[in-house]
Amino acid sequence: MDKRKLLIQLDSDPQPSVFDQIVAYDAGADVVLSYGGVMPEMVRDKVHGAIFTRGPKDLQRTAIFIGGSDVAMGEKLLVEVCKHMLPQLGLRVSVLLDANGANTTAAAAVRTAARHLDLRSAKALVLGGTGPVGQRAALLLARQGAQVRLGSRQMAKAAAAVERIRSKIPEAKLEPVAADPTGDLSAALADCTLVLAAGAPGVVLLPQAARQACRTLRVMIDLNAVPPTGIEGVDVADKGVERNGVLAYGAIGIGELKMKIHKAAIARLFERNDQVLDAEEVYALSEGL
Ligand code: NAP
Repeated sequence: MDKRKLLIQLDSDPQPSVFDQIVAYDAGADVVLSYGGVMPEMVRDKVHGAIFTRGPKDLQRTAIFIGGSDVAMGEKLLVEVCKHMLPQLGLRVSVLLDANGANTTAAAAVRTAARHLDLRSAKALVLGGTGPVGQRAALLLARQGAQVRLGSRQMAKAAAAVERIRSKIPEAKLEPVAADPTGDLSAALADCTLVLAAGAPGVVLLPQAARQACRTLRVMIDLNAVPPTGIEGVDVADKGVERNGVLAYGAIGIGELKMKIHKAAIARLFERNDQVLDAEEVYALSEGL
């Protein structure tokens, strides 16, 4: 008989996310072993517990999910998880990083944009591009060949985020831009066909007048679900609604695809025992969903 599918949830928050637990069951995990308050130094023993208990052929029925609201900590946990696998002995399990939903949200936003635009020729402005979701969205857009402007209120922060992405995609057509919502956004928006707002909750990053002045815009996606929305005039529930000639998506409008991607990513973990699903892998598996 097949062994049960075990998902080990490593969450850096004190209480492991109930949301992530429920999605895991809905995606086909038989048992979720949840750990909260996980710090990097706690990871080794958990990985060893995962890889030393079942024979190599059953290890694809054990997997690790890294969550928690702190995405930077999630990234550290992923490094630790990978460090303690023993691939040379076939002793490893697949792992998904989706701290704060950053990878699945960015993948859903970029996949949505790709339904309407040829990303190879798209010109995109990512507002809030220095945050975990914005950086991932910018990376995914750049990987698809889009020309990407990564916006921040501080040019130095935007430049640092661009360098991080460029270290992964040297050929990226990527530039940092100063994008203060209270200032002039016309240069940042010039010639853009796509604007993706990934700003902090409840902050307007793109006022309506600035958006309407950009005549080339075709798609706008806002990921902030807390009013006021990040792109003024976009409703959280917008899902391909046309607003002033531009297709609009709000955070809830993107949410359905985000959930599908999250579930597909969990299900994918149990197909093999050697996968590391980070932003790009999550984006790849979202094709056709
Ligand atoms: P975040 O780190 O909280 O913020 C992103 C960026 O917003 C920051 O780097 C900052 O950029 C800018 N910002 C912060 N405060 C600001 C202010 N007062 N005025 C102007 N800009 C400000 O965001 P995140 O975690 O990447 O998430 C992005 C958005 O996606 C959030 O709204 C979040 O709620 C949403 N989200 C949705 C889902 C979902 O399932 N639908 C999942 C995850 C996240 P600069 O300092 O560089 O200007």
